[in-house]
Amino acid sequence: MQHPIHTTTALLSLSAALFLSSCATSVVQTKQSQASLSPAQAVEALKQGNDRFVSGHGKHRDLQAQARKTAAGQYPFAAVLGCIDSRASNEIIFDQGIGDIFSARVAGNVLNDDLLGSLEYAAAKAGAKAIVVVGHTGCGAVGGACANVKLGHVTGLVDKIKPSVRKVLADPHAAHQGPAFENRVAEENVKYVTQLIRQRSTILRDLERQGKLQITAGIYHLDTGKVEFFDRN
Ligand SMILES: [Zn+2]
Repeated sequence: MQHPIHTTTALLSLSAALFLSSCATSVVQTKQSQASLSPAQAVEALKQGNDRFVSGHGKHRDLQAQARKTAAGQYPFAAVLGCIDSRASNEIIFDQGIGDIFSARVAGNVLNDDLLGSLEYAAAKAGAKAIVVVGHTGCGAVGGACANVKLGHVTGLVDKIKPSVRKVLADPHAAHQGPAFENRVAEENVKYVTQLIRQRSTILRDLERQGKLQITAGIYHLDTGKVEFFDRN
């Protein structure tokens, strides 16, 4: 009897697809899962997510099921303030699904009152345990600040990065031009923004002092996918 190879292949593909869809996680954050995490564990969860992303073993998610499960309420465990860069999506680089993290994005991951309000809402009202400011290598906004770019509303935006530019320029051991210079400014900028958050928000500063929140920073490396965390800043 002739073996129906094409039928067998089709059946195998179908069973593989069914197997994969049955493996897709529809688990979402709940009030309980959020409450059970410490701030340090929330940061660790982001680190583990980035490890999964770097290794190419991200979670297989049923996003439609996650959307349905979170429709009535959200309990994200962290808030990430990142850049708008098309290569640095917070959910993707930390391998997070629907309802897992608040995602605030602005060119150069700078801070303003509305973003600060968003972070206060995330932590004080919605229960997020960690705030992570994530910059990245090869950032256009940081490059613009280093080059003193003047362009419409970009001028005011890059001005917010200038304190970090001046800090790196004042360091005689730092590169003062090129990618090494700009990446160092990006690093100083995320540390500066975490300090600004603490200085300008009594709500977030108090939550951190009470051990209910961790505010930290990191740099996403475009070439490796790795987020380098600066836990002490
Ligand atoms: Zn950027």
